[in-house]
Amino acid sequence: MADVFRDHQLRISGRTLELTDEGAAILGGMTKDEARRLLAEEDDRQKGRRRARTEIPEDHGDEEGPACPVCEGGEGYLLGRLGSRVHFRCRDCGIEWSSEGEAT
Ligand SMILES: [Zn+2]
Repeated sequence: MADVFRDHQLRISGRTLELTDEGAAILGGMTKDEARRLLAEEDDRQKGRRRARTEIPEDHGDEEGPACPVCEGGEGYLLGRLGSRVHFRCRDCGIEWSSEGEAT
């Protein structure tokens, strides 16, 4: 369970570093410094097991995406945020839409 939580944290860390400071604040309060520290810790943890990877894998893995407004069966994944708007793309039909960012 701890590993699942850590995995989630690491995922957020990677995404936080791709965002502006403003975007990072919206994402959930993790600062870039915190994200970098967490990723550095993970690098240390990986040493001895495998060569530490520095690149951040592309991640469209928001498991709980919003439902597609068009095909309804599809699941949206997060494309990014612009101001207070959150942009999604449907995994099924590929349509893109945006909505007001939810308060977190
Ligand atoms: Zn769709």
